[in-house]
Amino acid sequence: MAKAFNWQLSKEVSYPYEPKRPKKQFAVVMDLNKCIACQTCTIACKTTWTSGRGQEYMLWNNVETKPWGFYPLGWDAKLLELLEGDKKTVFDAPEGERVLGWKPEDMDWMYPNIGEDEVNEPVDIGTVLENFPHPIWMFYLPRICNHCTYPACVAACPRQAIYKREEDGIVLIDPERCEGYQECVKACPYKKTMFNFVARISQKCIGCFPRVEEGLQPQCVITCIGKIRLMGFISPPEKARPENPIDFLVHIKKVALPIYPQTGLEPNVYYIPPINVPIRFLKQMFGPGAEHAVKTYMAMREGKEPELQALLHLFGSTPRIPYSFAVGPNEVIAFDEKGREIVRVPLVEPLQYRPHKDPRLDVVRQDIP
Ligand code: SF4
Ligand code: SF4
Repeated sequence: MAKAFNWQLSKEVSYPYEPKRPKKQFAVVMDLNKCIACQTCTIACKTTWTSGRGQEYMLWNNVETKPWGFYPLGWDAKLLELLEGDKKTVFDAPEGERVLGWKPEDMDWMYPNIGEDEVNEPVDIGTVLENFPHPIWMFYLPRICNHCTYPACVAACPRQAIYKREEDGIVLIDPERCEGYQECVKACPYKKTMFNFVARISQKCIGCFPRVEEGLQPQCVITCIGKIRLMGFISPPEKARPENPIDFLVHIKKVALPIYPQTGLEPNVYYIPPINVPIRFLKQMFGPGAEHAVKTYMAMREGKEPELQALLHLFGSTPRIPYSFAVGPNEVIAFDEKGREIVRVPLVEPLQYRPHKDPRLDVVRQDIP
């Protein structure tokens, strides 16, 4: 096994192939303080990519309620068992196996909304939640493939049918090479490869690569009602550019964190943790950086992080991929790869006052106090 440096764990992990970082690495940041579980992202992905035969159960993008929601059933509880919390990575497999894993039962995929809106414990009538974190809590967790830097699906495939693209780091399955052994389904700790029982091959999120090739963000990102998502490209920490929105959130402010980084895969979907949730749970899911991330977000709410606050206005503001951003006194501006302006967003929405009586149309408006 080769050795690969994992910056999320600050250590080398074993990997079956010589590690090679792509020229650019696809990454998405999701602000979990803003998701409302409307499932628009799920439907946008479903109708775009998985409406074929054998894909009926497949949700490449899903949104589950934590702590009791899972798709497939129990995926992260089983992962924590497998890794003994954070003692192992998935590459610490016994002799003769490439990765640690488990294959969900067919029925495990059947309840994508199980546990929806359920809080961590029963709530008394009249309970008021004032301070953060809340003693009674839940949050929504949208999930897609993490287009990992060291993908377990790639490592496990005996046919070498899965590959990571040099140009953008997107991980794809070659349908011509796949023989349907489902080793990737077993290996992916996030359970983001799925088996098509009609086509008899594995399939997974393709990062909307035809859009990315055109400089556009994926469907799940641009359709997000809560404007919780931003797609871009992440640099390794030593090459972080503060003007790159993803680098700023992950490396500079350290407010966006990888999910279950202890897998060792260097997953590239980063989450801004929800501030209503106790730190102990957030640390288990997002690693030791959770406390700093929550403190920074709380400081932003108090007006102490104006640049971060401005950058969050770019989420959901443009279909184009932002490569850099700049903050002006009243607006935040995003630029494409060639430095051309792609969007300019005001930091304060202009208020429009309409008169109660519109003399032009001779009507009285009912929504004006
Ligand atoms: S999340 Fe799973 S399917 Fe996606 S790249 Fe990582 S290991 Fe592969
Ligand atoms: S569209 Fe956005 S707000 Fe709605 S469920 Fe998906 S991530 Fe959450």
